[in-house]
Amino acid sequence: MSTFKAIRIDKDDSGYRAGYVDFDEADLMPGDVDVRISHSTVNYKDGLAITGKAPVVRRFPMIPGIDFAGVVESSSHADFKPGDAVVLTGWGVGETHLGGYAQKARVKGDWLVPLPQSLSPAQAMAIGTAGFTAMLAVLALEKQGANPSRGPVLVTGAAGGVGSVATALLAKAGWHVIASTGRPEEESFLKDLGAAEIINRAELSAPGKPLGKERWAAVVDCVGSHTLANALAQTKYEGAVAACGLAQGMDLPTSVAPFILRGVSLLGIDSVMKPKPARLAAWARLASDLDRDKLAELSTTIGFDAIIDTAKSILDGKVRGRIVAEIG
Ligand code: NDP
Repeated sequence: MSTFKAIRIDKDDSGYRAGYVDFDEADLMPGDVDVRISHSTVNYKDGLAITGKAPVVRRFPMIPGIDFAGVVESSSHADFKPGDAVVLTGWGVGETHLGGYAQKARVKGDWLVPLPQSLSPAQAMAIGTAGFTAMLAVLALEKQGANPSRGPVLVTGAAGGVGSVATALLAKAGWHVIASTGRPEEESFLKDLGAAEIINRAELSAPGKPLGKERWAAVVDCVGSHTLANALAQTKYEGAVAACGLAQGMDLPTSVAPFILRGVSLLGIDSVMKPKPARLAAWARLASDLDRDKLAELSTTIGFDAIIDTAKSILDGKVRGRIVAEIG
């Protein structure tokens, strides 16, 4: 029997639990590429999966971990050969297909993208699903015609994973970034990433009016609920809002006023099923635009054994920026 280190989630009569195990290679799910994983990350969704606070995992047992970087060990897929460095985010990995908190994964080659040449596996995972999502949000805003000459951009949940990468990317693109955070102690962290102004998230998190003073031309929202409603209500005429997350809640208690009176556009961002050409474009832009010093500043590295505890604390809003988990 050949085994590898992994985290396994089980759900049975004894309850829902995650633990460190030796996983039998024979129990891997079907796929045409085997990857030796060197790095993974801890995203908000991994926190939900490991704690079971939301029904993210839909197959048991499950190896959680929605993203990973590593090297191809064997492949019957035309695009990949042993030794290729690869990255995976999404596609239900860590939810319906065995995921990245393991030394080995067997996946569909169609889900993999080549590791951009200028990024190390650790840097790719400092970006990870959260940073990839931030890039998709920025690209969606740009496609909608948003640009810094129209006014500032608001980033909500700014000290988190998606928010911190979005802040760095938008500042680099010349935006005046207004970072909304519930952690005033992270002001200097956010300013170092390029935020021009910090606002307290309490300004946006309570029920608000259908329309308010026009404050920003664009928004990257990681929070949902009243925060997204208030962000929409204070978006300038013909501005654009990219909705990425639900850290405050899944509801959206808003009205049609921002849409029909100000021509505001609400853009949905999904990273999980994003088709491959758009993935390659986003990774290419991340590789060229994301300042490596800022990437280092916003990421913290943990060992494999710290993943479960870190996944629990991300749900409490206690994790700053991005977490890289060393697996190998
Ligand atoms: P993080 O936990 O790193 O960041 C979330 C941030 O939201 C926190 O750091 C905090 O920021 C803020 N926040 C947390 N709780 C609340 C609250 N109750 N009210 C207001 N703000 C709050 O998570 P990620 O960055 O990994 O993910 C952010 C969101 O994006 C999640 O909801 C996640 O599920 C979603 N997501 C969606 C993807 C997609 O494909 N659409 C892909 C990746 C993530 P601060 O401390 O600065 O206030």
